[in-house]
Amino acid sequence: MIVLKGAEVSAKIKEEVQELLGELEGKTPKLAVVRVGERPDDLSYERGAIKKMEAFGMKAQSYAFAETVDNQEFQSEFQKINQDPEVTGILLLRPLPRHIDEKALEAAIDPAKDLDGISPVNIAKVFAGDVSGFAPCTAEAVVEVLKANGIPIAGKRAVIVGRSMVVGKPLAMLLMRENATVTVCHTKTVDLPGTCRGGEILVAAAGRARMVNGDYVGPGAVVIDVGINVDADGKLWGDVDFESIGQNASMATPVPGGVGAVTTAVLARHLALAAHRS
Ligand code: NDP
Repeated sequence: MIVLKGAEVSAKIKEEVQELLGELEGKTPKLAVVRVGERPDDLSYERGAIKKMEAFGMKAQSYAFAETVDNQEFQSEFQKINQDPEVTGILLLRPLPRHIDEKALEAAIDPAKDLDGISPVNIAKVFAGDVSGFAPCTAEAVVEVLKANGIPIAGKRAVIVGRSMVVGKPLAMLLMRENATVTVCHTKTVDLPGTCRGGEILVAAAGRARMVNGDYVGPGAVVIDVGINVDADGKLWGDVDFESIGQNASMATPVPGGVGAVTTAVLARHLALAAHRS
């Protein structure tokens, strides 16, 4: 089984970003990472995103708010960041605390700065196959891993486990745009292992540590693991039981070191594109 490393895909995206930056005549794009509270996975994603923007030659700043921040106050602070001409793009870390009106933020975010595709405008573009917006970075990262490794998508049977608006649904649209035949699975799917075995490309995005084992993988399948699950000891696990799929899978992404690294690289490309388009 070939291990598909995220770092190699990220390095290819870095070249593209540098080309885009070269055309900006010295203007350095700036990412605003907006965070409420101190969730360890938010902090880890924020650190990774800031490090990646800087490594790719761009700026990034964290805008952190207390978990108890008042909804109205947060909406108004968010608007200030949204309208700040110095801010090229925004990454809003989610999920937000329950008292924060997430829908209002999705509606308010400037689609041109919405790097992670949360605005209804960008989501509609993903569903319409219009490439002028921004797709959610993780969904795009999955397609990027396939393309950068020369894995054919057109005409292939792709099975996705997970139907969230962040990964599963937009990814289904992106893979369909690449002419895959897509099946989307969820908690009510009957015979999940059997359905997954039918996939020539299998994407695990359920948020269940090591759920996808050898029984879910058909012969020769390419397995992309989107899952990020942290156990009680702080160890990171994907949704795929990497050890048990080796007999069947032809290629697979590891966790860590797979899709996560590509997600922040896609975010960087979106930031450079946002600067370009403005
Ligand atoms: P959600 O919890 O929003 O969605 C999970 C989806 O998986 C749901 O559609 C759910 O089905 C389905 N699901 C859960 N358990 C099962 C099961 N036992 N059998 C079948 N389907 C199941 O998660 P996200 O989409 O936000 O994230 C998915 C994973 O990806 C998480 O581990 C997350 O941490 C990770 N992630 C990784 C990123 C990266 O950069 N690598 C970025 C974003 C997320 P139903 O709809 O029926 O409830």
